[in-house]
Amino acid sequence: MAFESLSERLNKAIKNISGQGKLTEKNMNDMLKEVRMSLLEADVNYNVVKEFVENVKQKALGQEVLDALNPGQMVVKIVHDELQSLLGESDAKLHFKKHGITNVMMVGLQGTGKTTASAKIARFAKEKLGKRVLLVACDVVRPAAIEQLQTLGKNIDVEVFSLGADVDAITTAKQGLEYAKSRQKDLVIFDTAGRLHIDADLMDELKTMKDIVAPDDILLTVDAMTGQDIVTVAREFNEQLAITGLVVTKMDGDARGGGLLSVRSITDVPVMFVSNGEKVDDLEEFHPDRMADRILGMGDIMTLVEQAQDKIDMDVQKRAVQRMNEGVFTFNDMLDQFKQVKKMGSMQKMMNMIPGLGKLSGKIDDEQVNDGVKKSEAIIQSMTPYEREHPQCLKASRKSRIAKGAGVKVMEVNRLISQVEQMQTLMKMMKSGSMPNMNMLQGM
Ligand code: GDP
Repeated sequence: MAFESLSERLNKAIKNISGQGKLTEKNMNDMLKEVRMSLLEADVNYNVVKEFVENVKQKALGQEVLDALNPGQMVVKIVHDELQSLLGESDAKLHFKKHGITNVMMVGLQGTGKTTASAKIARFAKEKLGKRVLLVACDVVRPAAIEQLQTLGKNIDVEVFSLGADVDAITTAKQGLEYAKSRQKDLVIFDTAGRLHIDADLMDELKTMKDIVAPDDILLTVDAMTGQDIVTVAREFNEQLAITGLVVTKMDGDARGGGLLSVRSITDVPVMFVSNGEKVDDLEEFHPDRMADRILGMGDIMTLVEQAQDKIDMDVQKRAVQRMNEGVFTFNDMLDQFKQVKKMGSMQKMMNMIPGLGKLSGKIDDEQVNDGVKKSEAIIQSMTPYEREHPQCLKASRKSRIAKGAGVKVMEVNRLISQVEQMQTLMKMMKSGSMPNMNMLQGM
C-alpha cells in the first residue's frame, strides 16, 4: 500500500512524544527532526516539508498546548491537522450543474489510468449519485482505447458514445454532446487522448475540446508511483487548462506518497478521487482527514481526543492532577473520575477508536462496566463526607452499615477501600519520587 513506509516512520516519530506528559525543547526537536526526515524520504517537496515542520513547531509551542493536560497528545493532533491541511482543508467534489447536463473532461498522460478512471467515475456517479451517465470516447490516439472504454461501459452498464478511431476527437465530442441531450443524460464524461509526455499538440487539442465541451470539471489523472512528477505534470496541465481536480491512480502500489502530499500546496488543485486497483469499483472519494488518519495509522483517535476535549471537564481534571501531585486520593476523587469516564460514553466505543485496542473491545461488556461503576458510586454515596475524605477511619461496623445502605456485600466495600488505598500508596510514591513521572498520569 502507498504511504506504508512514511506511515511507519511518522508513527515512530510521534509515538515517543505522545506518551510524554511534558514537552521539552529536546523531545520537540527530536520529533521534528524525525518528521522532517520521514517526509523527505517519502519524496515530499523540500519547501513543503520546511513549511510543514515550521508550522508544527509554531503551533506546538503555543500556550494552549503547553497548558494542556497531555501536551504530547496535542502535538500528535497538530501533526495530524497539518497533514490534513496539506492534503486539502475540505473534501473536493464534482461540480454538478443544478439544471442541465454536467460535463467532465478527463485528461492525463498515457498509461496513468485515464480511461479506467473515466469508467470508474461513471460507475460512481451512476451507483452512488443516481446520475444518468454517458461516456464519450475521444481518445482516438491510443490504439484500443475506444474498445477498452466500450468494454468497461458494458461492465458497468453505462452507454459509451463513439464515432470510431477515424473521426477526430473534436467531432466526436460535439456529436457526443448532442447525443447526451437527445437521451436526457445528466452527466457526460469525455475520455480524451493522452501522450507519453506533455507536448504542444496535446495541449492545443485539449484546449479546443475545452472550448467546445465547456466542462464543469477537468480532472487530471496522475500515477501515484511517479512521485514528484505528479507536481510537475499537474502544474503544467493546470497552467494550460485550469484543471479542477486530480484523480491519483495506482494507490494500491507501493508509492512513497510524496507527490500526493506535495501537489495540493504547490498547485492548489485538490485531489478528488484516488484509485486503488484495476477493477471498476476500485475508486474512493478523497477525504483529506481520513487520509491523514490513515497515514498516521491512528484508527479514529482524533475523534477520541476531540470528544475528550469537548466532554471532559478540564477544571475537574486539573484539580485531580493537582491533588494527585500532592499525594492525595480519596473517595471524592474516585467519584469525580467516574463522572468523567461516564461523560465519555461507552468503553467499548472508546476502545474501538484506539488503534490496536479495537480487537479487545469485544471483550468489554459495557453493561458490566456500568454496573460496577454504579455499585461503587452507591457505596461511596453511603459514606459520610468525613469518611469519603478519610477512608482509613472506616471500622467494621461502619463498613457493614455502608454495605447495607448501598445494597452490596461487605466484601465489595472492602474491595473499594483497598482500591483507594492502593491509589493513595501510588500517589505517595510518585510524590516522593520513587515512581516515574506523575505527569504520565495526567491524561487519565
Ligand atoms: P490511460 O492510457 O491513461 O487511459 O490508462 P489506462 O486506463 O488504460 O490504464 C493503464 C493501466 O493501468 C491499465 O492496465 C489499468 O488497468 C491500470 N490501472 C489503472 N488504474 C489503476 C490503479 O488504480 N491500480 C492499478 N494497479 N492499476 C491501474
